[in-house]
Amino acid sequence: MIFKNFTAPRLERSSFCVAKRSKKAGVEDGNWRPKKIKFQWPRSETNFQTKEISLKRCIFEAMKRKVLLIYTGGTIGMEKDYETGSLRAFDFGNIFQKLPEMKLIECEVSVHPFKKPLDSSDMGPQEWKIIANYIGKNYDHYDGFLILHGTDTMSYTASALSFMLKNLRKPVVLTGSQLPIGDLRTDAKENLLTSLYYASLYENNEAVIQEVTIYFEYKLLRGNRTLKYSAEYFDAYQTPNYPVLGQSGVHLNIEKDFLWRSETEENFSVDDHISTDLLFWRIFPGMHLEHLLQMPKMKVLILQVFGSGTIFNTQKTQQTLQLLRDRGTEIVVISQCVSGGISFGKYSNSNIFTKIGAISGHDMTAESAITKAMHLLDNPKFEGNFAEIFSRNICGEVSVN
Ligand code: ASP
Repeated sequence: MIFKNFTAPRLERSSFCVAKRSKKAGVEDGNWRPKKIKFQWPRSETNFQTKEISLKRCIFEAMKRKVLLIYTGGTIGMEKDYETGSLRAFDFGNIFQKLPEMKLIECEVSVHPFKKPLDSSDMGPQEWKIIANYIGKNYDHYDGFLILHGTDTMSYTASALSFMLKNLRKPVVLTGSQLPIGDLRTDAKENLLTSLYYASLYENNEAVIQEVTIYFEYKLLRGNRTLKYSAEYFDAYQTPNYPVLGQSGVHLNIEKDFLWRSETEENFSVDDHISTDLLFWRIFPGMHLEHLLQMPKMKVLILQVFGSGTIFNTQKTQQTLQLLRDRGTEIVVISQCVSGGISFGKYSNSNIFTKIGAISGHDMTAESAITKAMHLLDNPKFEGNFAEIFSRNICGEVSVN
């Protein structure tokens, strides 16, 4: 089913309660600064032009929804220092001054900023755990979660969270921007405001989005299928191997058929297990693969190979990979192509992988393969061998059943 052709509520000037801070509202947690800013706005059914009753209901329900906004850093929360010309983080508590339109959106937002905003190149396993556990702690108190994040590693964080947040039944949306929020031509405003709509979208008292997504430049995307492909254009993310989940134009569309639904009856939980005992290696013509043998033993090697899974067909290649396997290293193979994936056996130059018992990463992104391996490696909650578990489709990250 496709949600289509419904218009987002027209924004109106309205009275709203003044942003207030409460010491009690936040949770002291590592990098967290407790701060809660809450605002509400009036509801007006006359603001809607929808073609489908169910969609209308869906938006009306969204009005009452509570969204937890977690601000981690990145360009979206920066402003230009006109003396030095460089970008610096601004106090996110002032977001309502920077973006007065936020006061007009029809949901209730609590803002929890990182104590020290981070460039996303400083985000990693520790921060993913903090975010996952914070969502876990607040899961019952909010209807949706919005994470503001630097764009450089947003796909890693989205992928990691998709594995850590088990049986998610509420929306988790990540967004950021290419230009700072204070910039005249900023993309931050649209990204943030529409993300709030998606993070609060409910129908028949059920969240429409029940997975980790990225919303960026008019597109809602499955988080663990994304890659950042442009450092220049506003349209910075793609999911080459999965359809777009939703699009915002004059109407907010949702492609309901493509949304992820957990098949188990199990309740939501957080499993923040992450191991970093792995290596990612991109091959190139003329490379000396045997250099890998000089490195300390790693538990998982993710090898990014050519096309649909080929590698130089030499004795040395076979010997090196076999030696790594004999040392107990799991080898996951993914493609250097951003679209399509691995197909062992298609060319004879991929047979070597079958021979040594390598694992196909199929059409997974590098970000997803890395964070999935990190999550599954030595994870006591998963029974079975690594190859078998890794080959499963856990939360829509790969096109296998
Ligand atoms: N370097 C920034 C970051 O990823 C870039 C951005 O936010 O767009 O944190």
